[in-house]
Amino acid sequence: MKQIALYGKGGIGKSTTSANLSAALSDCGLDVMQIGCDPKHDSTRMLMQGEWIPTVLDLVREHGDANVGVPDAVFTGYGGIRCVEAGGPEPGIGCAGRGIIATFQLLQRLEALYGDVIVYDVLGDVVCGGFAMPMRDGYAQEIYLVTSGEFMSLYAANNICKAIARLSRRTRSVCSLAGVICNAKNIPGEEALVREFAERVNSRLVAYIPRANIVQVAEVNQRTVIEYAPESEQAEVYRNLARTIMENTNLTIPTPLEMHELEELARSYITL
Ligand code: SF4
Repeated sequence: MKQIALYGKGGIGKSTTSANLSAALSDCGLDVMQIGCDPKHDSTRMLMQGEWIPTVLDLVREHGDANVGVPDAVFTGYGGIRCVEAGGPEPGIGCAGRGIIATFQLLQRLEALYGDVIVYDVLGDVVCGGFAMPMRDGYAQEIYLVTSGEFMSLYAANNICKAIARLSRRTRSVCSLAGVICNAKNIPGEEALVREFAERVNSRLVAYIPRANIVQVAEVNQRTVIEYAPESEQAEVYRNLARTIMENTNLTIPTPLEMHELEELARSYITL
């Protein structure tokens, strides 16, 4: 079983990328599970034709861990993909990772963590205990960073590199960096910038996803691009990503940049 995680800044397009990736993987005949860990709990929505599924954190809060079963927490979406939403913090309280911890505990008790591929879609804005959970406990073995060429998005990706590097020194942890995905915002020089960033952190750019209107069109029609426009060029971009990920054996321990190095790198590409 391959367990991969997509990490990146909030709003960078992780959920769109994850859902399209899962859909493309399932079209290859693979048994896929997608677990979203983001307070917005909309990671799996496009696989569920727009349906908001209940979060594990809410289910456990309302019914107690012992009273939640597979049909309550695991929903079948496009291509038979099993969809789970971990849920997030209550406003002003934070969750310190309770959502994802509760999800792992529940799915393990229910023996529901199985398949050819598990795709974790994890928010990477804040380096807190919860954010690192899937890596720390050996669930996410291959980490993909989703970033654009915007500075704050690269900053978040670099922070995630720091977490992977730190965790990879621990014996229980088996996570490594598997690649960088550029989800383009159409900034001039963006692909070259993200490619160089990937190389500087001891990884490589595994996909460049161009900004395309069909992504929005599919989204308002509550579908992934793979389902809504399978013949489109954008669908082929996601299928290529799925193939690359399945064949990827290039796993590394990242070498995060110092703040001044990251700033210099960004300055050398982002100019007037
Ligand atoms: S950053 Fe930490 S506290 Fe905030 S939602 Fe993520 S896991 Fe919870």
